Amino acid sequence: MVKPVKGIVFDIQRFAIYDGPGIRTLVFLKGCPLRCWWCQNPEGLTIEPSLIYISYKCIRCKTCIGICPQRALLYDEERNVVKIDRSRCNLCGTCTENCPTTALRFIGKEMTVEEVMAEIEKDIPFYDASGGGVTFSGGEPLVQAGFLTELLKACRARRIHTAIETSGYAPSGVFREVLELVDLLLYDIKLVDDAAHVKYTGVSNKPILANLLYANATGKPIIIRIPVIPTITDTDENLKSVIDLLSSLNLKTILRVDLLPYHDVREKYERLDLEYKMPPGLKASTDRLNLIKEEIEKTGLKVTVGGYG
Ligand code: SF4
Ligand code: SF4
Repeated sequence: MVKPVKGIVFDIQRFAIYDGPGIRTLVFLKGCPLRCWWCQNPEGLTIEPSLIYISYKCIRCKTCIGICPQRALLYDEERNVVKIDRSRCNLCGTCTENCPTTALRFIGKEMTVEEVMAEIEKDIPFYDASGGGVTFSGGEPLVQAGFLTELLKACRARRIHTAIETSGYAPSGVFREVLELVDLLLYDIKLVDDAAHVKYTGVSNKPILANLLYANATGKPIIIRIPVIPTITDTDENLKSVIDLLSSLNLKTILRVDLLPYHDVREKYERLDLEYKMPPGLKASTDRLNLIKEEIEKTGLKVTVGGYG
């Protein structure tokens, strides 16, 4: 018997309208090789399930404290919260099974291709009526390339439009295999200067730019997405470099550029005990977003703030 292909999915959202054309189902695959300071989905960074604690859901029953076989849970009496010692936790799940309110719970679960497709197929009438489809996001969906390619093949067999939201950071062979199966790329451009890219994302942008040039040469439809992060991606120098980069591409296959305004998500990081490196109070002003939009529009490309909708 053929073994079912499985992957780790951390969310499936239906009726989405900002991540590709029409009404879409968003499938979030876990795991990402980048560590962008501003990442909006830190729960998708690691490929294995993440244990989170949501303080406002906790009724302070302390059931979890006594049952953890690893003694990884402590009650912080001063702050009146449960603390997870992640160096001891082996993700056994005893606490999540016994927490009465799901204050402790896992993000991410193993699913087969058929299980994901069963969710996707629920909305085929909406895709057909709106010109929508499925968008695979993350994390970085290319991290689970084997699972992703099987999902893309299954969607193609059912004539469902597909898109991936990607950083483009993947070996060229992996990227090209996926590219052949997907209908639309939502491709992030963050920083053109490689040293700055390494500093703020943890990886070089060389494979990202090489994969972008390759995809552009194949004629695959691409939407460029630029996270507008004050003082990091949103600098005059980076804006000029991004415009130079865009101008060097074959613009016929670039459907649009979406500017993605920064949002402070430090609460998400606290739930995962992760460091949030972004300083508080940052916000891209509407005037600044409009100015960036106007500058990029001079290339002849259509630009939106926020994407579809
Ligand atoms: S079992 Fe759940 S509700 Fe009870 S203290 Fe632990 S986290 Fe809070
Ligand atoms: S998942 Fe298991 S080891 Fe980790 S905190 Fe919960 S009970 Fe303890």
